[in-house]
Amino acid sequence: MDANQRKQWIQSRKNKRNVSVVSLVEGVLHGERQALGQAITLIESQNKADRPKALELLEGTKFAHGKSIRVGITGVPGVGKSTFIEAFGLYLLSLGKKVAVLAVDPSSEKNKGSILGDKTRMNQLSLQENVFIRPSPSGGTLGGLARSTNESILLCEAAGYDVVLVETVGVGQSETMVKQSVDFFLLLMLSGAGDELQGIKRGIMELADLLVVTKADGDNIKPAKRAAAEYKNAMHLFPANDNDWIPQTSICSALENDGLDDIWKQIESFVNLTKINGWFEKNRVAQQNFWLETLVQEEIRTRFQQIPEFNQLLDDAENKIENGDANAFGMAQQIVNQIFEKYVKKS
Ligand code: GDP
Repeated sequence: MDANQRKQWIQSRKNKRNVSVVSLVEGVLHGERQALGQAITLIESQNKADRPKALELLEGTKFAHGKSIRVGITGVPGVGKSTFIEAFGLYLLSLGKKVAVLAVDPSSEKNKGSILGDKTRMNQLSLQENVFIRPSPSGGTLGGLARSTNESILLCEAAGYDVVLVETVGVGQSETMVKQSVDFFLLLMLSGAGDELQGIKRGIMELADLLVVTKADGDNIKPAKRAAAEYKNAMHLFPANDNDWIPQTSICSALENDGLDDIWKQIESFVNLTKINGWFEKNRVAQQNFWLETLVQEEIRTRFQQIPEFNQLLDDAENKIENGDANAFGMAQQIVNQIFEKYVKKS
């Protein structure tokens, strides 16, 4: 948004006496961390009454969206995610980048935050001026978490962050969601421990644009190299990507700041390649369409659930299925038809 457009927008909002959102928009666009924090809190709010304000916030910042590189980072607990993000974040700062770190942790409700919950884990990074770190919001559905992360990324971009790192735990569904919000997906793996796949599902490996074996220092350098070579072979067997990028493997030591430059080079190569071949923009549009569809589905479901009869029909259907009196497909059709005919079609 140029200065004139912004002035007009602010004036039109002020006329509506919606000053608090206006000041948040201004704060975010000026790169103020406090405003960005408050803006993300608004986005994360599960209070329905906050949604119009949140949407206005996104609208007000929309001309500044889309300018950063978004990197998803995943790996099992203990693989070294926070140590890596601390070291990699500091490395990016040394290149003059502004760095935002967001987390998506659907398990945080249960075990009080397994990632980023404890900010001291990134104590050096969190002290830096050009860094914004945001722990995972607690509660809500996985879809809700991923939705708010998607929107938080847009706000970080509007606040001028060049690289947005999105951390997630590599054990569940969250990475499939995060994949829909990032340009580049980094999977951290351990070497050794006998089982080279250590709980990371093959499906998650297939999402990776770069697989990095961590803790490649001291006696672990050789095993790390060997593991990286094995992963490389395994990844050759995966179906080819439609963006022409061949997923890479690498090793690093976050403790010794080794291999970070290579990882950044890989990310830059990926961005260059996919910007030239047009996939980068196409993917971002496809991702927004994914969110559109997901949010429409969620909204329809929420509205249906607000109809008491719908919930009653659902309970009855569950009982019938339990007793073997009906099948799921037939009941689903019947319930939706009944609700649709009575409540939706007429209005
Ligand atoms: P997370 O659970 O994936 O966030 O993992 P952490 O970053 O908390 O790291 C788990 C453990 O591995 C900690 O004890 C770290 O000190 C250790 N660690 C992390 N990165 C490295 C590394 O590059 N080299 C070595 N030797 N240890 C590391």
